[in-house]
Amino acid sequence: MKTCYVTTPIYYASGKVHIGNSYSTIVCDVFARYHRMKGFDTFFLTGMDEHGLKIETAAKNKGIEPQTFVDSIAKETSDLWKNLNITNDDFIRTSEERHIKVVQAIFERLIQNGDIYLGQYEGDYCVPCEAFFTKTQLNSDGTCPDCGRPTIKVKEEGYFLRLTKYADPLLKYIKEHPTFIQPETRKNEVVSFIEQGLEDLCVSRTSFKWGIPVLSNPKHVVYVWIDALSNYLSALGYLSNDETPYQKYWVNGDRVIHVVGKDILRFHAIYWPIMLMALEVPIRFELIAHGWVMVKEGKMSKSKGNVVYPMDVARRYGLDAMRLYLVKEMSLGNDGIFTYDRFIEKFNVDLANDLGNLVSRSISMMNKYVQGTVRKSTFTNEFSQDVECVIGEVVLGFQKAFDAFEFQDGLELVWNLIHRANKYIDETLPWGLAKNPEKMAELETVLYHLYEVIRIVALMISPVMPDTATIIYDELGLNGRFLTTEDMMYGVIDEAQVTQKPIVLFKRLDLEEEFKNLASDV
Ligand SMILES: [Zn+2]
Repeated sequence: MKTCYVTTPIYYASGKVHIGNSYSTIVCDVFARYHRMKGFDTFFLTGMDEHGLKIETAAKNKGIEPQTFVDSIAKETSDLWKNLNITNDDFIRTSEERHIKVVQAIFERLIQNGDIYLGQYEGDYCVPCEAFFTKTQLNSDGTCPDCGRPTIKVKEEGYFLRLTKYADPLLKYIKEHPTFIQPETRKNEVVSFIEQGLEDLCVSRTSFKWGIPVLSNPKHVVYVWIDALSNYLSALGYLSNDETPYQKYWVNGDRVIHVVGKDILRFHAIYWPIMLMALEVPIRFELIAHGWVMVKEGKMSKSKGNVVYPMDVARRYGLDAMRLYLVKEMSLGNDGIFTYDRFIEKFNVDLANDLGNLVSRSISMMNKYVQGTVRKSTFTNEFSQDVECVIGEVVLGFQKAFDAFEFQDGLELVWNLIHRANKYIDETLPWGLAKNPEKMAELETVLYHLYEVIRIVALMISPVMPDTATIIYDELGLNGRFLTTEDMMYGVIDEAQVTQKPIVLFKRLDLEEEFKNLASDV
């Protein structure tokens, strides 16, 4: 059986997860569900990054232990994933023993082979904030980006990872593996960054305590990237008593996909493969870097007060509608925009009009004209042949797109098929055929083609809209059968009995009404 290992970034446990983080998780969920449907043995990982000064400080301000602080955020986040219908197989937390042991072992291994060495870290330090900042993080006048006070130059002992040694091998790897970093624009960014010259990376700190201690020198804690990135291996049991998942999903895995936001591209495209090279672990992953979910006023931020929380949208309009909007409206490389007016417009067009209408009027015609029993028929005409042809093309393109993480393109095709089917009803006028007993064979074939389109559409949208797909499947009388990608072809069903009472899948929204409601909530 082929395998698929897909990971989200681990989210920093400093606050509530917003719609942007949810986007990363939802697209991974879509990929995982799609691969399960393809028959892949799939392992879907998400988790939390729980160390660092910010968390130590936040906990101190609340008068609680950092562990207690991150426990509550981890609980909240994993509950959110359940509510968003996320099918992750594991939830790794960097404060867990299974992770700490692996990070410590990795660190010692890299010290021993000379890829991590002890040196002097010089940085711009803010005394009141007790934090180091890089040149690019500082305000333009050199002051602290957090509190605005002047910073000072401070030297401290630190461990360094030899990035310089691996710059050329990494460039070579990127050039030889064209799908390693996607999309292309992000790959080019990474290549030019490496070509400007890398500096060794400081990977330990002595200025705070809430982190994983370096085993051989415990006054140092492992600093963010080695700790965080290692989660992709620690969750698979790497360097533990049971390396079975590591062997299966990583070393011998068929697909390993890391999904990241563009803001953490560099770490995943440079530090992570270099760590793997230094550890002599094969680089098995492909990196998918996506844009941000933006709001009208630009980037979401707590200080601007324009953060959109996924559950607010899901509660009001349904989870599947929200998942679809995010996946369908965001193209992989670019930023997408979330606004309520656009959301409502897409809801009305894609769901209420196109999909909802197709399903409800087809099923009611099936009930009205053939008592809900749909049969494969030998009658054919040019319209039916064209529908069969479109099904074939759409399925092919859909699978190609979903294999390549291009969900937007894949869903575009699904909606093309929905449009084609709605047009097919206008072309064949089933209500006219029903009046003429001699046209019975033609009528049956029209209804059968509509049935097959709806069935295949439900299958294709199921990774994105699992609940809706299940409802449609039940309405088609399929009850959990024919659920693999192999069933995505015309003519699979010989006979079926559809439900007598189709429900309205998506009720049209009134824009003005919705805005009144939204305004009264704020
Ligand atoms: Zn400061």
